[in-house]
Amino acid sequence: MALIVQKYGGTSVGSIDRIRNVAQRIKTERDKGNQVVAVISAMGGVTDKLISLANELSDEPTERELDVLLSSGEQQSIALLSIALNEMGIDAVSATGRQAGIVTSGSHTRGRIERIEPTMVDRFLEEDRTVIVAGFQGITEDGMIHTLGRGGSDLSAIAVASSIKADLCQILTDVDGVYTADPRVVKKARKLPEISYDELLELASVGTKVMQSRSVEFAKKYGVKFEVKSSLNNNPGTIVTEEHEAMESVVIRGVSIERSQARVTITGIPDTPGMSGSILGALAAAEVNIDMIVSNIASDHLARHSFTMHTSDLGRAQKALKPILTELGGSAGIETEAGIGKLSCVGIGMRSHSGVAAKMFEALGEAKINIGMISTSEIKISVTVEEDQIEEAARVVHTAFDLDE
Ligand code: ASP
Ligand code: MG
Repeated sequence: MALIVQKYGGTSVGSIDRIRNVAQRIKTERDKGNQVVAVISAMGGVTDKLISLANELSDEPTERELDVLLSSGEQQSIALLSIALNEMGIDAVSATGRQAGIVTSGSHTRGRIERIEPTMVDRFLEEDRTVIVAGFQGITEDGMIHTLGRGGSDLSAIAVASSIKADLCQILTDVDGVYTADPRVVKKARKLPEISYDELLELASVGTKVMQSRSVEFAKKYGVKFEVKSSLNNNPGTIVTEEHEAMESVVIRGVSIERSQARVTITGIPDTPGMSGSILGALAAAEVNIDMIVSNIASDHLARHSFTMHTSDLGRAQKALKPILTELGGSAGIETEAGIGKLSCVGIGMRSHSGVAAKMFEALGEAKINIGMISTSEIKISVTVEEDQIEEAARVVHTAFDLDE
């Protein structure tokens, strides 16, 4: 007999039929003799609906009340799922964040899980009941309701699994697992049997949205191994776990793309202290979210800095940098370019293999795809290419690293 935590997202509990389907899946686990704690989201669309109702009354609803309001979405779904289970003869009980002992700190609408006191959940399990916990919510030491940020039910599930020392934590969702690339772009993409926390985090940071990054960080910190799998079929999913030696034999775990990127280059920057600080300071003040940064110094002792950002930030960046140009003196200028895509290769195997970047660049070169900017981290190499070549670039690199099915 195993103790399993299963997380079902909003889509999986999005209608009465789907709630029944989830109840059936939980019943199947119970019939196998396993104990189940399900952590669930609000029915799909409910959280958005509640936010828009609040916005009809106020442009800036107080965050305390938003928390009270939004947490009601999960309170509905846990009760409905418990009702469905009881109807099937499964003794299920719901638990709100408070009842499940999820203690948070931080601020309203962005609560952080501090710890979990699972006294009530443990008691229900001792009584051999099935427990349905509200995701996305917790309670502060002084009794305030917190929500955990959008998509926060993933975090609730990981934290609950850690607190009750579950044998298995499953994130059941509308994707089948984690793939070597987006299967809509790379037809030969494969589902990965396993991936390390860091690789999933890097892939998430470049647009492969499997689950909320904060929950993966939490899982890494507390060593919670989990499986991402479909709530619609019984195929095995992807295990997300600590890295182990065998994982390093694969050089690249996955390839990911981001579209709609733009580049800003400041040229003719005097090569003196403080210049980069003023430029980035201006962008930060304008809340421009910078991604890649590349800079170098030309032979004339003037530097150039290039940054990439989402195209929607480009206008704001240009406006913020205008006054800085004067500050930088007569030689400075600004160039911008939109229509850029970013391609990243991620894999912990990079640490122990050499020539990874060369292989990626050669593959792109052979396909006549021109590389713009390059940036690297310990387990990631990213390049920019023309946006209309980004899909081909992903396929070429996917093949070069033997990731094709
Ligand atoms: N219901 C919340 C949201 O829509 C939490 C979640 O789905 O994980 O963001
Ligand atoms: Mg959701």
